[in-house]
Amino acid sequence: MSCFCEDGNLIFDYLHKRMTIELKQHIDPRLVPILEKISDPEIPVLSIMDMGVVRSARIVDNVVQVKITPTYSGCPAMDVIGDDIIAAFKKENRQATVNLVLSPAWTTDWITPRGRKALEKYGIAAPLDEEADKEALLGNKKIVKCPQCTSTNTKMISQFGSTACKALFKCDDCLEPFDYFKCLK
Ligand SMILES: [Zn+2]
Repeated sequence: MSCFCEDGNLIFDYLHKRMTIELKQHIDPRLVPILEKISDPEIPVLSIMDMGVVRSARIVDNVVQVKITPTYSGCPAMDVIGDDIIAAFKKENRQATVNLVLSPAWTTDWITPRGRKALEKYGIAAPLDEEADKEALLGNKKIVKCPQCTSTNTKMISQFGSTACKALFKCDDCLEPFDYFKCLK
């Protein structure tokens, strides 16, 4: 699977903006504290809220209905997230259902600013914007910041890091290798 971003698509951008608004509107504030405690199975320091996978969460007839959008297609973590959501609400004596929403697709833009900070703290460089991402992965510009020492004197070692959605980089200042979370749209 290629994680390279494609050139801007206006229709998609429009959908994305509309999605962001819908995201805010459809999450019942009473459910947020519980959802924020559920971590992303692949990056435990990130909550599923910070990852931006929760599309809507509401209470209908006393049942919590959650809709999530998978990060990367075929990501096995999604089953885990669904089970974790159901388990988290069960602890609060609430019944929950989880549905997947596949379109529009998740993008790394949906990671919250708090999520990006958590990624860096965890040692993963947060995704750059589309253009910058391309330049970095093609090796045209040294712009990926080392999460250890913040130097941009870094280079890509491998197109694929610990997972297909990350690239492996190495810092030429502190000599530490690190994962860069590629931009995905
Ligand atoms: Zn460094």
